[in-house]
Amino acid sequence: MESKFTEAYQKTSEEGHESDCDKTAHLLDLIIDGEASAEEQSFFTTHIEDCAPCFESHQKQKLLKNLVSGHLKRVIVPESLALSIKARIQETA
Ligand SMILES: [Zn+2]
Repeated sequence: MESKFTEAYQKTSEEGHESDCDKTAHLLDLIIDGEASAEEQSFFTTHIEDCAPCFESHQKQKLLKNLVSGHLKRVIVPESLALSIKARIQETA
């Protein structure tokens, strides 16, 4: 038991170890583009339900994506709002 714990601890503190947050960040682009597999989507969804930073970054990406496609299709969002949101995203990035 003790050795298992130590192993797990070393794993998470190792450099270069890909955490769930890293994985989620990589998946984000696929999710936003609708290109993620069902398995990836479910991993992603499960993770952002528990992880506020990943959830927020997903919301930002989704918003931005919607604004971009919304702009192309001439839907809803006023350009000034789109710009202010884009500016805000850049500030916090
Ligand atoms: Zn996370």
